[in-house]
Amino acid sequence: MNLYADYHTHTSYSHAKGTVEENIQSAIKANLKEIGIAEHGPQTLFVGVSNKKFENLYDEIISLRDKYPEIKILFNIEANLLDYEGNIDLPPFVENKVDMLLLGFHPNIVPSSKSFPMVTNNLLSRNLGLRKERTRWYNTQGLIKAMKKYDISLITHPGHKVDVDTKQLAKACAETNTALEINCKHGMKIKDFVDIAKSEGVKFIVSSDAHHPNEVGEFSKGISIIKKLNIPKSMIVNSERST
Ligand SMILES: [Zn+2]
Ligand SMILES: [Zn+2]
Repeated sequence: MNLYADYHTHTSYSHAKGTVEENIQSAIKANLKEIGIAEHGPQTLFVGVSNKKFENLYDEIISLRDKYPEIKILFNIEANLLDYEGNIDLPPFVENKVDMLLLGFHPNIVPSSKSFPMVTNNLLSRNLGLRKERTRWYNTQGLIKAMKKYDISLITHPGHKVDVDTKQLAKACAETNTALEINCKHGMKIKDFVDIAKSEGVKFIVSSDAHHPNEVGEFSKGISIIKKLNIPKSMIVNSERST
């Protein structure tokens, strides 16, 4: 299977190694036709990209588009779910310019009174095994509310570090035309989630979640899951169609 786009890569704007330009050069080397720079939303604990830095990143992408016309360079964001109401950290500037809105459910976000129940539930559930069912239900509802509020293209690494009801989530994704990610950083651990989600007819996007330019376009773990589970090309958004 040939994958032509990597929509989820990070740079030194957050905590990753490498510049935007280095990611683009790696993507060209990997024969990709599209690359997305999807930096962490401002409320990511310690590594979130500020509103001002998103403006700089956008300017940099605009000039790199001129320098590398052979590849499509997307200004994406990996925003955070902030609370169970489905609010996310999407700065207005980014909302106006963004090519693809990615949403991740990260347990490490800047604490606030609104995020408190969500953060606490997940801490108790993950570390002490408490409130497991309730946490899974609320987590899933939070993501579904966000998908209804915002035009989200992709849910990144669903179920990673936080519990979600995969079937419910995949059903809502199929309804709202939101893709679920096959995240190549997490490998075979995510096979079960992909297996459950595929039965709901959801679309997938395979991405590297690169934190180093060398990882851009590194899809081998995702491709082995796709092969093992016999997922058809038609379900993979970033797979090359033979015409
Ligand atoms: Zn993430
Ligand atoms: Zn990421």
